[in-house]
Amino acid sequence: MKTLIHLIILFFIGLLSAQESFIIKDATVFDGEKVIPKTSILVENGVISKVANSIDKKTTIVDGTGKFLMPAMTNCHVHAWGIPILQQAANAGVLNLLDMHGVEPYQGMMKSYKDSTNYARFFVAGYAATAPDGHGTQYGFPVPTLTKPEDAVKFIADRIKAGVDHIKIIVEPWKPTLSHETVKAIIDEGHKNKKKVVAHVSKMNDGYQVLNNNADGLVHIWRDLAMPENQLQQLAKEKEFFVIPTLLVSIEAQKQRTKKSPEEIATITAFLKKEVKRLYDAGIPILAGTDPPNLNINYGTDLYKELILISEAGIPNEEVLKGATSYPADKFELGKIGYLKEGYIADILLLSKNPIEDIKHIDTIESIWKSGQKVATKK
Ligand SMILES: [Zn+2]
Repeated sequence: MKTLIHLIILFFIGLLSAQESFIIKDATVFDGEKVIPKTSILVENGVISKVANSIDKKTTIVDGTGKFLMPAMTNCHVHAWGIPILQQAANAGVLNLLDMHGVEPYQGMMKSYKDSTNYARFFVAGYAATAPDGHGTQYGFPVPTLTKPEDAVKFIADRIKAGVDHIKIIVEPWKPTLSHETVKAIIDEGHKNKKKVVAHVSKMNDGYQVLNNNADGLVHIWRDLAMPENQLQQLAKEKEFFVIPTLLVSIEAQKQRTKKSPEEIATITAFLKKEVKRLYDAGIPILAGTDPPNLNINYGTDLYKELILISEAGIPNEEVLKGATSYPADKFELGKIGYLKEGYIADILLLSKNPIEDIKHIDTIESIWKSGQKVATKK
């Protein structure tokens, strides 16, 4: 009897793993790095086990003829409180959300959905570093604050204890803000603890200083002045960093919060795009993030709008897609995601139209797989 039960169990396990194996055949593939025409991908047990011209294996075939495959996307700047958010993101092909300041006790619960098919993974900064009464303290939940460089050790130790994935610092002079000395101490302490450290800035000079102090990235682009070319070139040469420009939220803020004329908004939009293009030309990776729920931006499809804006800035579409796939995986060290390559987790988007030909095609996603499992999308 026992043997029979074992056999039945083995049969069902066999069935399950058989379902987990499939080939997507003859698609155009953006693998996170480059475009490969007419290629097939074999997925086994949630992992991409082969990418090749032709794959000889008896398993389920998904016809990819005329279709486009790319890695699932990451939104590099969100604030999230609640499980439905993770579903909204996954439903749009955004399988990873990078939190940039939130309520730590909530975040562990949200992170625990990382292996659930219909939910995005959640990577967190925990509480952002800010000054007493500084930006980030006004959202109705208590946050720890820092006043001097010596506070950095305890601040980072507490974040590590809370299980954060990266560190976020706020430099925002419209309220009391951290000194650059304190910011530098936080960056150094974060690095000592092997964490990536990113910063919120709104002024060019603050951006320049935090990058000079070795921040790994900025989570907004400055909105006041163009960075002088010699400073930009110096940073590009001496430092390694990325920028998440959050164009959509910056432009929406102009539209929704100020009484600026359409002409003034067009001027600011052009300025922001030009700075993004200058960063790209200097060799700086541009990553995609939208800062929801600010200005009613959603956690899913609004990321497409950010990609369109980055493309309009003059960034080649392949590079735009990297900014939502392989770059976040590399820069934030998220593990084996962000690429459609052998050995990587099978987080795959199947699109009916090619977004490298026109970035607006990013909204033609037909199927989404997370770890080789089909995400149940509702249209
Ligand atoms: Zn934010």
